[in-house]
Amino acid sequence: MVGMHELAVTQGVLDLVLDAADREGGGQVTRIDLVVGELASIVDDSVQFYWDIIAEGTAAAGAVLHFRRVPIQFECRDCRALFEPADEDFLCTSCGSGSVRVAAGDELRVESFDLEPAAAGPAATADQPTKEP
Ligand SMILES: [Zn+2]
Repeated sequence: MVGMHELAVTQGVLDLVLDAADREGGGQVTRIDLVVGELASIVDDSVQFYWDIIAEGTAAAGAVLHFRRVPIQFECRDCRALFEPADEDFLCTSCGSGSVRVAAGDELRVESFDLEPAAAGPAATADQPTKEP
């Protein structure tokens, strides 16, 4: 089962990575490390599934996606403490304030990606198939 949510997310990641790869001078993106919050309803396999479709023909075609899950974290608006909620109690664990916001856990972001520089110059024929003698 794949959802449209993952498609939109995947498209966003692709745009971002291609943009960044361009700024780095271009090349082939081979691997992408993604950080996914526990609150983000992302099915890893679905993202890879869409990736293989929409990245085709781009500099990121065939890139392998790696997902790292991060726990939900709240930030207290009153004392700025960062804490992980216990059960359904979202009160600040430092001062007991109920004025908190989600600081991490609902995001999906690109942590890093591997870029193989495009071969430069007219001598770049190394990736053409060569016949064995
Ligand atoms: Zn607090």
